[in-house]
Amino acid sequence: MKKTIVFATGNQGKMREIRQILAGMDVDILSMKEAGISMDIVEDGTTFEENAVIKAKAVASATKHIVLADDSGLEIDYLNKEPGIYSARYMGEDTSYDIKNANLIERLSGVEDEKRTARFVCAIAAVLPDGQILTVQGVIEGRIAYEPKGSNGFGFDPIFYLPEYGCTSAELSEEDKNAISHRGRALRAMKEKLKEVI
Ligand code: IMP
Repeated sequence: MKKTIVFATGNQGKMREIRQILAGMDVDILSMKEAGISMDIVEDGTTFEENAVIKAKAVASATKHIVLADDSGLEIDYLNKEPGIYSARYMGEDTSYDIKNANLIERLSGVEDEKRTARFVCAIAAVLPDGQILTVQGVIEGRIAYEPKGSNGFGFDPIFYLPEYGCTSAELSEEDKNAISHRGRALRAMKEKLKEVI
């Protein structure tokens, strides 16, 4: 029987990406909303992985399907890995990313190239119907730019400079970003793990 995976997100961009990456796996992929699940989940873990597991377990308590959940964020080495797991809440959820990005650039003013290292991290957890939990993590390394550039992507993309590409992740097309991004990498790693068990 064809399996169903519920992805614990309401974000359409993430749904598009997971459908692209898991294409060919002969599974139906539903968002929480499409699965008729609505809940507020308190993400009080201390790592991306813990938060992804918390989300996946919460949603798994409401369905018999396989559940996937992700948690991601930006770690800036010079700022002791801030904003990290608090990325979505940094400076308040209602503050625009123009302001957040300007603030982070300001906090790194005068900091030389070599010390501007940063990475996007994405953890994905799966809860299988038998209770088994799988986790994976994807990372993309970069540097905090000196000024925001580009208008693709979202969030901190305009200040995330990729030295190998000579541009920020907001200057990459969606397809190019997905091919190298933390989330793309984590999703492909999860696909390999899922293939072994379903
Ligand atoms: P969440 O995993 O949906 O909770 O998102 C965490 C936060 O990390 C987002 O709200 C963004 O601030 C940041 N973030 C995660 N991935 C990306 C990315 O690919 N580009 C830009 N910002 C990101």
